[in-house]
Amino acid sequence: MKLEFLIEKKYIFLHAFNQNQHDEPFRGWSRFTLDKWNKYPQECYFLAGFAEWPLLRKKSLKVLATNSEKLLEEWLNTPQVKRLIKETQKYRDWLEEEWNKKGEKALIELEKIIRILLPKKKISVYVTHPKLKNGMALNPEIIVWGHPEDWLNYSIIYLCHEIMHILTWDEKVDTKTMHAIIELATDNELRIRLNKRGKYFKEGEFDVGHPKLKKLEKNMYPFWKKYLKKPKQNLKQFIELQKKKTNKYNK
Ligand SMILES: [Zn+2]
Repeated sequence: MKLEFLIEKKYIFLHAFNQNQHDEPFRGWSRFTLDKWNKYPQECYFLAGFAEWPLLRKKSLKVLATNSEKLLEEWLNTPQVKRLIKETQKYRDWLEEEWNKKGEKALIELEKIIRILLPKKKISVYVTHPKLKNGMALNPEIIVWGHPEDWLNYSIIYLCHEIMHILTWDEKVDTKTMHAIIELATDNELRIRLNKRGKYFKEGEFDVGHPKLKKLEKNMYPFWKKYLKKPKQNLKQFIELQKKKTNKYNK
């Protein structure tokens, strides 16, 4: 498993500019973006993920897309966006070094948890600003990542979480169940093993995992603990067993 950490300037900007992004990467960023919104509202709606709003103003999306892309190119040369990219590049270098130092050990431990041989595979990781939140497997070849290091080995553990989404991409099980199993395996078990301390569902002041999955995970937890003690079972078999139970949990 090889991870390649990449910088894509337009993506980094749009991620920071997106409607779902409420935090500032640094002070002054909101003032900068607000100024752009005032000057080019329709293009900004389009670029920030509100394409339906210009549509209501009877704007042509084709024309808008062309104008927006031109503006995007221009904005890459502003001091604010240059700073955003520079800080992300620095974070990328740190992340690569961190993964080179600890990634292999984490994957060996992950393999012990899931008891499935990891495939030889190259994955591209597109990095975003470290003060903002991002983390997703877009498809079986691409992960997007950028997040504050909330606790020890945060990035290492969540990169393994995203790798698990890729490994289970074609698994025929509902996504909620699959996601809960991934969180038990990586956010919790792998975290505790790598950090040599900690407990399930909580790390210091932080709740671990998606709030929406917590109930399901707690229901699965006793079975998960049993699974960990049965070295002859692997994750695929655990998934099969859980599939049958999920409907009951969700009631
Ligand atoms: Zn996930």
